[in-house]
Amino acid sequence: MAPDHPKIKSVSKVFEKIASQEGFRLVGNVELGRDISLKELEEMYDAVIIATGSTVGRKLGIPGEELANSISAADFVPWYNAHPEYKNLEVDFSDQVAVVIGAGNVAIDVARMLALNPKELDLTDTAQYALDKLHNSAIREVHLFGRRGAEHAAFTSPELRELPKLEYTDVFIDEGEISAAQQRAGSAGEIPKDIKANLEAMAAIATADKKGVDRKLSLHFLSTPLEIKGEGRVEEIIFSLNEVKDGQVVPTGKTKSIKCGLVISAIGYRCLEMPGLIYESGKIKNTDGRIGASNTYVVGWAKRGPSGVIGTNKSDSSEVIKLLISNLTTPKN
Ligand SMILES: Cc1cc2nc3c(=O)[nH]c(=O)nc-3n(C[C@H](O)[C@H](O)[C@H](O)COP(=O)(O)OP(=O)(O)OC[C@H]3O[C@@H](n4cnc5c(N)ncnc54)[C@H](O)[C@@H]3O)c2cc1C
Repeated sequence: MAPDHPKIKSVSKVFEKIASQEGFRLVGNVELGRDISLKELEEMYDAVIIATGSTVGRKLGIPGEELANSISAADFVPWYNAHPEYKNLEVDFSDQVAVVIGAGNVAIDVARMLALNPKELDLTDTAQYALDKLHNSAIREVHLFGRRGAEHAAFTSPELRELPKLEYTDVFIDEGEISAAQQRAGSAGEIPKDIKANLEAMAAIATADKKGVDRKLSLHFLSTPLEIKGEGRVEEIIFSLNEVKDGQVVPTGKTKSIKCGLVISAIGYRCLEMPGLIYESGKIKNTDGRIGASNTYVVGWAKRGPSGVIGTNKSDSSEVIKLLISNLTTPKN
């Protein structure tokens, strides 16, 4: 999650409470599949719960994706969050323009981190090396692109509503784009509550007074990335412009080019595959969290796919644990 959301990070207090209970033991620096196999764990314990999340960023699958400074959010987010395995990520903020691809909360987090004034991060737990780099960043324009219309965006409205509150950044959305999305969404009947709230939040951004500052964040829709261009590193990205016809997103045949020095893709995650498990649509195959008829269970993003905030996954995991308890028969010893 983003370092400028310290309130959510206080979830660690729950872990501290659990860890202080008698019978709790943490064995760190152990990677399932590398240091120990699932089979070994199953032989040793009455039940095994896999909570390994979704850690691999989905690929755009377009030419130029492998250029230097074309980075997945799955690498960029742990880099600024001080994950030890990502601290050596090569990222260059020397160009004025950055592009973020994706229309979900991860894309918003990344775009906001690039667009805000880094002094807003000074009191957070952003990795010091990332903070130093962000303080020297030349980025002043961040463009976020979604493939479908604003009505299809996977943002949640609280994340959108905080954008106009950024003290040192102006946020732009084309007003016409939002009213067209509202019309399309309304043409099928009553607009679902979450979509309505999102579109209202986006309309508020579109019409909000701008501060006239040099840091800018713009949200664009109906744009599919076609190609990233550059001599060895990102210099430009080409988008196909789309429209919605009979409820389908289709290309208009027109393209748009943006000169930029950094592209971050935030188009979803999938599980890193481990031996001994079956995967389906990027997540571990399970029935209500149970893997086959075994005493092995899966929770969180590894179970559900990369959706939902901590609260959603917490309540879902509680249901899995109830199932685990009801299935536990004779303990091993
Ligand atoms: C960029 C971003 C921003 C987010 N912001 C918010 C937010 O503001 N608020 C909110 O509520 N939610 C937020 N979320 C969602 C939240 O992170 C998820 O709901 C939650 O982390 C899912 O929990 P999990 O336990 O399934 O996976 P994770 O929290 O990802 O935990 C998985 C753990 O397993 C470890 N692991 C992976 N593979 C192995 C292995 N083979 N062996 C041993 N360990 C392994 C990983 O290192 C990791 O520690 C955000 C997500 C992202 C990606």
